[in-house]
Amino acid sequence: MTPKYENLGNFFDTKDKTPCLLSCITMKLLCDHMLGSLAKWLRIFGFDTLYPDATTNDDEVLHVAKAEKRLLLSRDKELILRGKKVKLDVLEIQTTDLDEQLAEVLTHIQIDSTQVLTRCTLCNTPLISVEKKAIKTHVPPKVFETRDQFWYCSVCNKYYWMGTHYENMIEKINELTNKNNQ
Ligand SMILES: [Zn+2]
Repeated sequence: MTPKYENLGNFFDTKDKTPCLLSCITMKLLCDHMLGSLAKWLRIFGFDTLYPDATTNDDEVLHVAKAEKRLLLSRDKELILRGKKVKLDVLEIQTTDLDEQLAEVLTHIQIDSTQVLTRCTLCNTPLISVEKKAIKTHVPPKVFETRDQFWYCSVCNKYYWMGTHYENMIEKINELTNKNNQ
C-alpha cells in the first residue's frame, strides 16, 4: 500500500480526473527524461510536474512545455537550446546529484508549505483527503490504528498517509530550504 516511487509511468496520459480540492500551485514544471527522481521530489513538494515516459520524444516534450506554459528543467544541452529557441522558460540542471538538483531548483522557485504532499508522486494528480472510516479495508491494520489522515489518488487507486517516509521528506525539505537560506 505504500507508494511505489520507482514506478514512474506515462504521465502525459494522465489527466486530473478529480477536482483539485486543495488550492493548486501556479508554477508548472516539466522535467526531462534524465530527471525522474527530481520530478518525483518536486511532486512531493507540491509542484505540478510532468515527466515524460520513454516513448516521448524531444519534440513532444517541447510541445507540451510550450502548450501548458511549463518551466522546462533539463540536463540535456541540446534540448535546452531548442527550448530557448522556441522561447520556453528553461532551467538548466548542472548536476547528477539529487540533493544538489533540488537545491538548485529551490534557488529559483519557492516551496509553498501548504502544498507539500498534495500530489500523487506517481502520476502528478492532486490527492483528495479521505475520511478515516472509509479506508479501513484499504490500508494495513497497523497504519489504520496509528494514523488519522489519509489521501487518495483516483488515477492510481492509491492511498497515502503520513508514514516514516513522510517524516524523512519533511526533514529533507527543511535541510534543503535551510541550506538555501544560509
Ligand atoms: Zn496517482
